[in-house]
Amino acid sequence: MAVTGNLFILSAPSGAGKSSLISALLKQPSARVMQVSVSHTTRDPRPGEIDGQHYHFVTVEQFKQQIAQKEFYEYAEVFGNYYGTSETAIDAQLAQGIDVFLDIDWQGAQQVRLKKPGVTTIFISPPSKQELENRLRSRGQDSEETIQQRMAQAQAECSHYQEFDYIIINDNFDQALADLTTIVENQRLKRSQQVENHQLLFKDLLAND
Ligand code: 5GP
Repeated sequence: MAVTGNLFILSAPSGAGKSSLISALLKQPSARVMQVSVSHTTRDPRPGEIDGQHYHFVTVEQFKQQIAQKEFYEYAEVFGNYYGTSETAIDAQLAQGIDVFLDIDWQGAQQVRLKKPGVTTIFISPPSKQELENRLRSRGQDSEETIQQRMAQAQAECSHYQEFDYIIINDNFDQALADLTTIVENQRLKRSQQVENHQLLFKDLLAND
């Protein structure tokens, strides 16, 4: 029987460095295949974003139809757009033994926790409010109004930090990546995982031959 993959959720306010951390994690050598789930969204693609790779870009009508057909593990409205995680896609990946990472907000995290109590949830925090603001400003793309809006949204996301299993403070990137790797490896070493991974070993160890 194939070993089941682990499910991880990473949530963070925008500007905390979550996307860079996930992509660096996936580039590292790993004992298991790791994939980020590709969400569905009704927001417009940003320059360089590819349909099916960064998101599945759908219309509001399509999204609502998918809700009606119960296709989502979870979905939420974030910044005025819908975002959702497809249930069949995730289950297929987990069944193949793939470790799956969901880059979703706190609302999605709450819904997945109810459906998958074994999920490992990680909150990525900026080292300070000032640093978060600096990072948002250094992108140089947003108006003052947008920056203030993003800061308010960041505060809303941060207000849920107590609901997560792990917290990573992304002050130094390499340290934050090492922390994330430790959390993933820790999960893989849990007894339940090891027993599932090494069924023949434990059968053999206990056999009277
Ligand atoms: P962005 O539009 O910048 O890519 O993402 C905005 C926010 O939506 C981020 O906080 C991201 O984690 C969240 N998000 C992306 N996909 C999903 C999803 O499938 N479900 C939920 N609940 N949030 C998502």
